[in-house]
Amino acid sequence: MKKLIVASNNVKKIKEIKEILSKYPIEIVSLKEAGINVDVEENGETFIENAYIKANEIYKMVDNAMVLADDSGLMVDCLGGAPGVYSARFAGEHGNDKKNNEKLIGLLQGKKTEERKGKFVCAIVLIIDSNNVIKVQGEVEGIILEEEKGENGFGYDPLFYVPEHKVTFAEMDAVLKNSISHRAKALKKLEGRMKELMMEG
Ligand code: IMP
Repeated sequence: MKKLIVASNNVKKIKEIKEILSKYPIEIVSLKEAGINVDVEENGETFIENAYIKANEIYKMVDNAMVLADDSGLMVDCLGGAPGVYSARFAGEHGNDKKNNEKLIGLLQGKKTEERKGKFVCAIVLIIDSNNVIKVQGEVEGIILEEEKGENGFGYDPLFYVPEHKVTFAEMDAVLKNSISHRAKALKKLEGRMKELMMEG
C-alpha cells in the first residue's frame, strides 16, 4: 500500500485527514510515525507557499512516499490580512493562543461590527511525485468579536463568530466545526482533485 506522510504531529489534524481519505488505499502516517524529526522553517509569504515548503522539505527526505502538508491562519480585513501567516506567533511566542487573542482584541478595539470581518484560511499541498503536486485552499468567513466566547476548539476560535450559525467556532461542537471549517473545505477540494487524478490515471 502506498504511504502518505502528513508533515505534522498534530493528532487532531491527522485524525481529520485520515477520516476524509479513508476510502483510498493509502497508509497515512505522521512525521513521528515515519521516524522524521525536523523543524522546517516556514518563511513563505502565503499559506500555500508555506505548505509547499513543508511538504517539499519532507518529500526530499523520504523514499517512495507521498507527502501532505497544511498551513492555516486567520486574516482580518481591516488589519490588511494580519495575522495571516504569522497567526501562530502573532504576539511573539509560537502557539500562545491567549496572548494572540489578547493582541487581536486590542488591535480591533473601537471597531464597528462591519469593520470586524475576517476569514480562516487553510492551504494544503499534496506531493504525489515530482510531476504530480496538488495545491488547494479552503476559507470560511466570520466576524472577530470584542471578547472571547466558548470553550471548544483552539487558537482564535473563541473570537471567530460565524453569522450563519450565530455562534463562535469555540461554541460549536467538533462535528459542526469540522464540517464547515477552512480545513474541511480544503480537504474536500483535495479529495475532489484526488478523484480526478485517479480517473485520469
Ligand atoms: P497551523 O496551521 O497549525 O500552523 O496553525 C496556525 C495558527 O493559525 C494556529 O496556531 C492558530 O492560531 C490559527 N488557526 C489555524 N486554524 C485555526 C482554527 O481552526 N481555529 C483557530 N485558530 C486557527
